[in-house]
Amino acid sequence: MIKHSRIYTISIILALLAAAAIVFYLSFLKETKEIFIHDNYKKRSDSLRLNVENMIDSKRKSTLGLALTLADHDEKLAEYVKQGTIPEGYYNDLVYTYATNTLYKNIWIQVLDTKGISLYRSWSSYKGDDLSKIREDVRQALQLKKPLMSMSTGQFDISLKSIAPIFQREHFLGLVEVISHFNSITKVLHKAGVESIVVADARFKERLKHPWNKTFIDDYYVSNLTANKKLIDYLSDHGIKNYLNNSYKVENGYLITSYLLMDNNEIKGAFIMFEKLSNISSEGIDEFILRWLLFGIFVIILIVIVGNVGIYYVTIKQKKYYKSIIDSSGNIVLTNDGNTLTDTNKAFFKYFRSYKTLKDFLKEHSCICDFFVNEKGYLQKEMDGVNWVEYLLAHQDQDNKVKMNIEGSYYYFLVSASVISDKPLQIAIILADITEQELYKHELEERTMTDPLTGIKNRRFYESRIQYEIARSCRYEEPLSIIMFDIDHFKQVNDIHGHDVGDKVLIEYTSLISSMLRATDVLCRIGGEEFIIIAPHTSAIDAYKLAEKIRKAVEGAKLILQTTMSFGVTQHKDDEDKDSMFKRADRALYEAKESGRNKVVIG
Ligand code: GH3
Ligand code: MG
Ligand code: MG
Repeated sequence: MIKHSRIYTISIILALLAAAAIVFYLSFLKETKEIFIHDNYKKRSDSLRLNVENMIDSKRKSTLGLALTLADHDEKLAEYVKQGTIPEGYYNDLVYTYATNTLYKNIWIQVLDTKGISLYRSWSSYKGDDLSKIREDVRQALQLKKPLMSMSTGQFDISLKSIAPIFQREHFLGLVEVISHFNSITKVLHKAGVESIVVADARFKERLKHPWNKTFIDDYYVSNLTANKKLIDYLSDHGIKNYLNNSYKVENGYLITSYLLMDNNEIKGAFIMFEKLSNISSEGIDEFILRWLLFGIFVIILIVIVGNVGIYYVTIKQKKYYKSIIDSSGNIVLTNDGNTLTDTNKAFFKYFRSYKTLKDFLKEHSCICDFFVNEKGYLQKEMDGVNWVEYLLAHQDQDNKVKMNIEGSYYYFLVSASVISDKPLQIAIILADITEQELYKHELEERTMTDPLTGIKNRRFYESRIQYEIARSCRYEEPLSIIMFDIDHFKQVNDIHGHDVGDKVLIEYTSLISSMLRATDVLCRIGGEEFIIIAPHTSAIDAYKLAEKIRKAVEGAKLILQTTMSFGVTQHKDDEDKDSMFKRADRALYEAKESGRNKVVIG
């Protein structure tokens, strides 16, 4: 059977496994959550980057549209360019209209001649400088005489440029350039809760002769005027170079997304966007985690339940298995909790036939000890001052026998007990039926104590019984006497009538004398034709009277032969042993013989 302690161990192991599974599962969920969150951040950062790219693209395209319109349809511009002078403030109205009516707010217009010399700047009166020397896009536009878009850092700022060639009747006159900044984009982002810092690459520091904004982070020019001062310091402290990639970082409570501004396969600058993590919707994550958490807990609980049910069934199965083994035993097997019977096997009911179940039995008895027979040499309810079960447990090394009177029949059992569980206390008691052996043994004992001729007790019995009676008499202070007697001239009986007749005389007279005795008196044949009567509770006087009564009965008996007997009577004296008592009786008998026979003499 799985022991209780082993079941506890298995349960503890299961609980530990469940705990480990929970810990493992929680850490798995935590990791999953992290992955989920970072995936969310990555998606958010990718979408920001795409947004910015789209906004820049759309801005460039619309500014190119304006540049193409001016180049192709502004007749006045063509004339001015041809003449080499453009009036100051020429495009002020247009720029103002754009600022007030479009999404792009600020645009700047510049006009260049065929050499790349600046003829007009809408934002400055500065002109006459040769841009072909410093700007690759200008050189390209002059050479190709085709519209192009670029992103570049000039003397003032990093900007988006859309350049269109000015023709008059297929005659190339110069270039018109519409410049826009990233401010409108950063504003759109700001509205969406994203702060951005637009920087020009460090390579262009020297080129920025008249920087629009005075702010730099190391050698990186900060283009947007409204850039958050704290974020500028943050980038400065953490090394802006670490943020110049098309990637993202999660730092300081921000999702920091970086978008590299590329043109002609060159890095021109970067758009660094800061979005508070608290702004980024984590919708779905909690629900996702909760769902998996509940699922995990459900699975773990299910495993624990299945495990326990498994143990339960294995235990039940084992119990049934062992019960069937115990039931198949011919021995009575009981369990006892120290006080009461708790279980029995089938064999129990072969003996206690009037009970169908243990419950029935317990209604009338709490203990099988109610059936113990109080007999010397057999187990009693109490042994040496302790309960019989305790006694059995303390004396497991010896053979303990019990005699039981069950429903009128006597049974003998070899009984043993052993503790099968400490907590709760369970003691197994096994009773092996030894009735046959015991009865046979008793019969043998009886035989060794019986005289085969007369059927009365023999000398051996006398020796053991007198010892017991002397002890009893001393303990209870009751008188004890013996009557020793011998047939007179018995030798002659044999000589005259033969040995067989002698035997019959012995048989008939012992039978006569036996019939005259009390149940407690014992007649023993201690020699050929010598006898002793042990008479408990009897004084010498009473023994004398009894002997006299017998003497007379023998004398007057009409049996196979007439005979007489001589008697020696003694009462046991205090502190006297059996041999001394015997000698005194023998002497009295001798005296009876000497003084004429057929007499009783007290010794
Ligand atoms: P008394 O006692 O009167 O002095 O004379 P007695 O003849 O009885 O003397 P004793 O005690 O010496 O004789 C005993 C005789 O009893 C001897 C023996 O032959 C006889 N005897 C002993 N045992 C048996 C027995 O089992 N059967 C028969 N038939 N005779 C026995
Ligand atoms: Mg004799
Ligand atoms: Mg004799």
